[in-house]
Amino acid sequence: PTFSALGLSEPLLRAVAEKGYTHPTPIQQQAIPWVLMGRDLLGCAQTGTGKTAGFTLPMLDILSGSRARARMPRSLILEPTRELALQVADNFVLYGKYLKLTHALIIGGESMSDQKDLLMRGVDVLIATPGRLIDMFERGGLLLTDTRVLVIDEADRMLDMGFIPDVERIVSLLPKNRQTLFFSATMAPEIRRLADAFLQNPKEVTV
Ligand code: AMP
Repeated sequence: PTFSALGLSEPLLRAVAEKGYTHPTPIQQQAIPWVLMGRDLLGCAQTGTGKTAGFTLPMLDILSGSRARARMPRSLILEPTRELALQVADNFVLYGKYLKLTHALIIGGESMSDQKDLLMRGVDVLIATPGRLIDMFERGGLLLTDTRVLVIDEADRMLDMGFIPDVERIVSLLPKNRQTLFFSATMAPEIRRLADAFLQNPKEVTV
């Protein structure tokens, strides 16, 4: 199969072609059409499988249908580390080069007031680490009540790093009526419990 068979729009296909990808990876083949339908996904996948493009491409497609209006993030991606958050942001810039979508990062080591100014303009995609996002929330001014697409990436690392209480608190701030994509390299019982709590009728993809 080719990328165009997966249902992605032309600006995304162009960016993918320019990046030099000829064929979608197995997780991309299984995840992209499903995510484009607005459904929840449970992905059991390591880094290196192409999972980042597997969620970034369909999210960009969904978000490009309309622009941010309310001063709230329309989607949220939680990453366990600052480095992963920066990599995901790079992916958004790369694949979104022909779309006019905005993103902001909320991670340690960046000025909180700069990050807040960006947020107040309304962003399509917010990429954050859990602890820093909670800090920002507690300072006030961050609302997630209109954030309808959520990605929890590397859930097993979130668990190892003790971030699960923060993640649960963040998820409780989002609307119940949302699309959730959940990725983990392993499916330990605690991870499975979280997936059951956060996802509705997900497709399970293991690669
Ligand atoms: P990830 O698993 O998301 O960290 O991606 C691993 C690497 O695979 C990254 O360097 C991507 O640029 C690359 N990649 C992702 N999708 C494809 C694809 N369809 N064809 C070739 N390389 C890809």
